Amino acid sequence: MSGSLQNQVAIVTGSSSGIGEGVALALSKAGATVVINHSRASSRSEADAVLAKITAQGGQAIIIQCDVSQEQEVQQMFAQTIQAFGTVDILVSNAGLQQDAAFTDMTLEQWNKVIGINLTGQFLCTREAIKEFMRRGVVPSRSTAAGKIICMSSVHEVIPWAGHANYAASKGGIKLLMQTIAQEFAPHKIRVNSIAPGAIRTRINQEAWNTPAAASKLLELIPYGRIGEAEDIGKAAVFLASDDSDYITGTTLFVDGGMTLYPGFAGNG
Ligand code: NAD
Repeated sequence: MSGSLQNQVAIVTGSSSGIGEGVALALSKAGATVVINHSRASSRSEADAVLAKITAQGGQAIIIQCDVSQEQEVQQMFAQTIQAFGTVDILVSNAGLQQDAAFTDMTLEQWNKVIGINLTGQFLCTREAIKEFMRRGVVPSRSTAAGKIICMSSVHEVIPWAGHANYAASKGGIKLLMQTIAQEFAPHKIRVNSIAPGAIRTRINQEAWNTPAAASKLLELIPYGRIGEAEDIGKAAVFLASDDSDYITGTTLFVDGGMTLYPGFAGNG
């Protein structure tokens, strides 16, 4: 396929559903060959459906099962990708989940699970990606950068979130992980950025939008007046993965309809 990501290979973690699916489809439309990652055998059929959509739009993709919190599985996913396509140009580190609880009820298991996937998973995936980018260096026919990493963060990298301490801590951690790697590897022409989605219509937050009452309460937090869609994030990911953003590194792009503009202050004070 032709497009701004032509000849490039992208791994999108957690791309059998939701935002990851939207990003995989958008990167593919922009010309990238995509690795669709899913975590468990039970999510294989969802990954197959994403593969079918990519194939139908004329793109190329493969499916790799990997739990991003497991070091060996992550290393295997990168080895398999490099074996299949020669290298990796783009990592979208998107896999994540919530396990919510009031703080004093939160178990160590809930804490470790969320930090293990949302934060340690990003460490493991970005480390493997950077090793490959450093090995290959810049190939001008592919991109002006040696590699691009997009960390899927959240507005909760800056907005505290009662009842979600593990999730907010994981996203706050991603912010400085991303900036630190960006600082360390900019001299090697590796760009590292985050996308911070606001409320995007996926199953992670269904109860926040799947009834009219819940949706209208949610909209009070969104000045732009609509809930986001996975395609909104897909478009931002294409921009951050392409040479159109060649001078951008270490930045969080908020794609949130203004959620981080503190709309509660609009008519108050
Ligand atoms: P989702 O549940 O549809 O997607 C999460 C994906 O991660 C799923 O495909 C799941 O199978 C995968 N996953 C979970 N554990 C994994 C593991 N150990 N290894 C590999 N994959 C694993 O929800 P989503 O909304 O699409 O979430 C995607 C990302 O976007 C998450 O990091 C989430 O925190 C972030 N985010 C979502 C919203 C939103 O409003 N939907 C807002 C801000 C941030």
